[in-house]
Amino acid sequence: MTDTGNAVLMSGTDVARAITDRTAQRAAQFAEKTGRKPCLATVLVGDDPASETYVRMKRNRCAKVGIESKHVPLPASTTTAQLVELITDLSNDPAVNGILLQHPVPAHIDERAAFEAIAPGKDVDGVTMHSFADMAFGGKGFASCTPAGIMRILDAYDVDPRGKHAVVIGRSPILGKPMGMLLLARDATVTYCHSKTQDLPSIVRTADIVVAAVGRPEFVRGEWIKPGAVVLDAGYNEGNVGDVAFDEAAVRAGLITPVPGGVGPTTIAVLLEQTVDAAFEQRA
Ligand code: NAP
Repeated sequence: MTDTGNAVLMSGTDVARAITDRTAQRAAQFAEKTGRKPCLATVLVGDDPASETYVRMKRNRCAKVGIESKHVPLPASTTTAQLVELITDLSNDPAVNGILLQHPVPAHIDERAAFEAIAPGKDVDGVTMHSFADMAFGGKGFASCTPAGIMRILDAYDVDPRGKHAVVIGRSPILGKPMGMLLLARDATVTYCHSKTQDLPSIVRTADIVVAAVGRPEFVRGEWIKPGAVVLDAGYNEGNVGDVAFDEAAVRAGLITPVPGGVGPTTIAVLLEQTVDAAFEQRA
């Protein structure tokens, strides 16, 4: 562990490595039993450079752990109906175990309709309403990968959310909202904050656990952080900058994730792990 200011750095890279090592072993077991690798279909609509990079990183990581990735690039002009049809085909394809539709899709597409075409058993990115409901009710569905990765970081650093006040800044369907549900399921007292929240700094000052999922560089200031709090920065902005002003926050926090090397690597690790889970479950 590295000390940063007063805070201990929580290395998402280390947590992700432990998850991917185990996933690679399980992928090899699957291949041995079935004669084929687990398969993740990656669907990318349009040519947004950041999305292209994210998908490339995910596919490279698949290759490293022994997961086949079937890439489906689609033009930005793709319609909702065409995308839904393609995803439905992948949902029905027995050679595909998991489906990742890279978010965001171009604005003219109904992203929710496209997500909902993913069969629940192949929703390894945890984006469907079925998966969300399952997670909220404590079922066995796939979790949204970034929040699930954050929970793995908390566990790896022995942070028990029980009874703690967790403040989640952001309420997007794939990050903020499921994050709060996972913390609630572990008995945290959860406050959601968003763009209409009044006096955000005073709410964050009462937090034992802060999750920043805003999408604005260095939005959360160090003076908002309660001394000793656990700070998780899900933000990823241009220039490798998080949503937390790291240098300021590290002086007051007890534990903090860096950007890069924090939440990001665990997101991909959970995606791969859930792909192998899906492969085994579909075979059972
Ligand atoms: P999003 O869909 O744009 O949601 C942003 C959230 O922040 C919204 O709920 C919004 O509130 C809230 N917000 C915006 N301005 C605010 C303000 N001034 N005060 C309080 N809340 C405010 O973004 P997202 O997809 O959740 O992503 C958030 C960040 O996480 C981004 O930096 C993104 O790059 C990163 N991310 C990282 C990973 C990873 O793998 N590490 C994965 C996904 C996303 P309203 O709901 O009121 O608009």
